[in-house]
Amino acid sequence: MSGNLYVVAAPSGAGKTTLVRMLLAEEGSVHLSISFTTRAPRPGEQDGREYHFVSVDRFRSMIAGDEFLEWAEVHGNFYGTSKKWIGDQLAAGHDVLLEIDWQGAQQVRKLFPAAIGVFILPPSMDELSRRLTGRGTDAQDVIERRLAAAEAEMRHVGEFDYAIINDQLDQALQDLRAIVRSSRLSPGKQRLQHPALFSRLL
Ligand code: 5GP
Repeated sequence: MSGNLYVVAAPSGAGKTTLVRMLLAEEGSVHLSISFTTRAPRPGEQDGREYHFVSVDRFRSMIAGDEFLEWAEVHGNFYGTSKKWIGDQLAAGHDVLLEIDWQGAQQVRKLFPAAIGVFILPPSMDELSRRLTGRGTDAQDVIERRLAAAEAEMRHVGEFDYAIINDQLDQALQDLRAIVRSSRLSPGKQRLQHPALFSRLL
């Protein structure tokens, strides 16, 4: 594979989607994988933009057809990454970013040991609690269940190459940008950008 594969995971409330969106706005050469999901679209979400929204039957037939690079059940819905799309992007030399959960990240790591895993964390459990409380419309037990689920997800941080603390959004974005930049500086990657120079050297 010549492009870099970034796997970004986080518990809800860590600000992953915002961070990734900001990174992609700057780094046009990083292509975001659009996952398939069986969950219903949320208000404002569009089929083919946030997700490819499919039925459970269609999802199952895609599993049977070996169409997923990875898939997992998260919070009662199925989510999966298209094997063909990823393969085509990487083969064309594009960098690809997957926004998936830790279970999917484990599967991707087995298939692509060179994948770069990034886990985004809130600065503290108290802050996460504040973020999950949000508009204050949810019952306390619902919030506590979400917090416990988030903590269980966060225990997988050690399986990732990098941990970003999203306290100040600007700082977290700089950290994410630094990971993307440095991953492009290995001699093998530089060779792709500077073939004339590196053909003499490697
Ligand atoms: P949401 O429904 O809030 O968009 O996403 C719920 C969780 O599913 C998030 O942790 C998100 O990263 C994860 N997710 C989204 N797409 C995929 C996917 O293709 N595979 C896996 N394993 N998880 C995914």
